[in-house]
Amino acid sequence: MKGAALESGKGIKSILIDLMTDALNNGAVSSILVPSTGPDNSFPWTLVTDVSSLDRAEPIPPIMSVQGAKALASFTQFPEEGRLLAVMRPCEARAAIELSKLEQIDLNNIILLTFDCPGAVPLSEFGDDGIMKPDIQQSETIRPLCRQCTSFTSEGDVCLTCNEDDRILVPLTTKGQNFLDSLGKRAEADASAWMKWAKDLSEERQKIKKDAENKLKSTYGGLNGLAEFFSGCISCRNCRKVCPICYCRLCFIDMKDRRSPSSEYLEHSSNAGAARLLSNTLLFHVGRMAHMSLSCVSCGMCEDACPSDIPIGRLVSMVSSNTTDIFGYSAGSNPEDPLPLNTFQLEELHEYED
Ligand code: SF4
Ligand code: SF4
Ligand code: SF4
Repeated sequence: MKGAALESGKGIKSILIDLMTDALNNGAVSSILVPSTGPDNSFPWTLVTDVSSLDRAEPIPPIMSVQGAKALASFTQFPEEGRLLAVMRPCEARAAIELSKLEQIDLNNIILLTFDCPGAVPLSEFGDDGIMKPDIQQSETIRPLCRQCTSFTSEGDVCLTCNEDDRILVPLTTKGQNFLDSLGKRAEADASAWMKWAKDLSEERQKIKKDAENKLKSTYGGLNGLAEFFSGCISCRNCRKVCPICYCRLCFIDMKDRRSPSSEYLEHSSNAGAARLLSNTLLFHVGRMAHMSLSCVSCGMCEDACPSDIPIGRLVSMVSSNTTDIFGYSAGSNPEDPLPLNTFQLEELHEYED
């Protein structure tokens, strides 16, 4: 694989800002979606059309407060006139690709630029001082799902490698190649050292992921285990709100005809002495997992937003890996792969019949 060599010895943030500046100045794109520095160490997504606003850009913020695909979906459901560059983490680019398959983002005029992701600091540990930074070499600085993330690079249309001596812009799709051409950059630098680094780290993380999943299964297997897993759930539904993939316009759990009459709750209460509200905790989570199981991109947003510290992202990600393996599908990796959810094949899954 080859890419365009960029100035080495420069910080990754400066390289990304130079790239965005070039792209706007020479008309390769007309707008850029990128996180920026906000008040009190927040990093809101911003739609930049003027290079002077790039001085606040923070393309690799230490935390993920809003999933990039969610920001992108908020304004790109319909075809855009100009060309947009979205600078985001690999899991955000994959979520954007999934959402385009679910017709909630139109990616036609959007270029997804990713980078070797260092991971993100858990929201709960990110103090007001904003000092904490994710470090890919120090797993304790990043969220548990980042520690087992195997898709931390090479996603979207074009990817920037972040190795100290290897700053290479690697095109991954025709759109990515056209972007390089429009910047006047030629993909002539050998990226094999970076590919080897990525492969080795991915294999190392695959083992960490398997070990973590085995532990999760042995601790919370079966229906009783699942009930125990969610015993601390307060039904705030934060996990649903922050998830980029939760695609239903109206959640099944909130549908009016799903609500039981108050007599039913009173009956439960008089049988047991008291009844827990909001009810249907397990039904909500099992339903959500079923919906997520083919498209979860393991971004960890749900887990980061859970006030009860439930490792929900690791559970959904594990369930999703099992389901996607059955279909030979990898959520968000290839825009051309049809979504198993809406692909009907007469001859499939016979092994699960009866
Ligand atoms: S899951 Fe974590 S390491 Fe993986 S791409 Fe997302 S933020 Fe980066
Ligand atoms: S279920 Fe959780 S880990 Fe999966 S895509 Fe949604 S927020 Fe990310
Ligand atoms: S965010 Fe946590 S507490 Fe809230 S509904 Fe989800 S799992 Fe339950």
